[in-house]
Amino acid sequence: TGPNDEIGRLTSTINGMLERLQMAYSELEESYRRQRRFVSDASHELRTPLTTIRGNVDLLEKMWKQTASVGSVPERQQLEMSLEAMHDIAGESERMSRLVNDMLSLARADAGIQMPKMELQMLPLVAGVARKAQLLPRSVEWITGDLTPLQGVYVQGNRDYLQQLIYIFVENAFKYTDQGFVKLDAVRTESQIGLRIADTGIGMNSEEVPMIFERFYRVDVSRGKTAGTGLGLSIAKWIIDEHHGSIQVESRPGEGSTFIIWLPISSISDSEREQAFPPP
Ligand code: ADP
Repeated sequence: TGPNDEIGRLTSTINGMLERLQMAYSELEESYRRQRRFVSDASHELRTPLTTIRGNVDLLEKMWKQTASVGSVPERQQLEMSLEAMHDIAGESERMSRLVNDMLSLARADAGIQMPKMELQMLPLVAGVARKAQLLPRSVEWITGDLTPLQGVYVQGNRDYLQQLIYIFVENAFKYTDQGFVKLDAVRTESQIGLRIADTGIGMNSEEVPMIFERFYRVDVSRGKTAGTGLGLSIAKWIIDEHHGSIQVESRPGEGSTFIIWLPISSISDSEREQAFPPP
């Protein structure tokens, strides 16, 4: 056999391998697509029964409370016990709803769903979040610091997701802070805007910090402390990546944590903006 035959054999072997690789790849892609689809469908399906459970629990609680006010002593004791059980069910279904919502967000992330983006003025967006943060369940002081670095700053972004992003950090700060305060302010560099959320809460070890953005990861001390899902920061990470931003974390156990969300400032100049989006 000559070198030509040898080359021919080699070529067909390589071609065969390539074909098999291509097939394996398509199969993988298909199974990945099915898996993402499944997670997203499952999340949708789980929401409906959860809403029903929640509604019925609320109704029963109300009815039993009414009965408890008129019943005899043993009846009232029994009702009180079942009220406690109801309370647990309500709490757990609430937690599960949050879990399902978070999983749905991550399923969207995995499915590579694009967020529609536009030029967003940052000052009103962040000031709006700061106002609403006062209404969140919290036991410590809420401080809106200096937001003037946001003046005139635009970001290519998605309004809803950016709001959700800030809430994730603010809610965490409230969850993991028992005394002191939670503060939001802004800092800027030439090309980036930083939204800073600082708390005087439980803080974390430096080894812990890189892990908290992983799905379902929760620092040991915070397990059981609150009804978190361990998914908030992985959603935050996805939103930041989608905006080509980054996250800076400083934290000390027992002293508190500071998170800075860095986002690239939109480079469209003011005059271009005036032309593209004339003032009303
Ligand atoms: P969770 O639902 O548990 O809050 P997250 O993904 O939002 O999930 O956060 C992951 C973990 O990071 C939390 O369980 C907590 O241990 C830690 N963490 C997040 N934010 C803070 C904070 N401000 N202070 C201290 N620990 C925090």
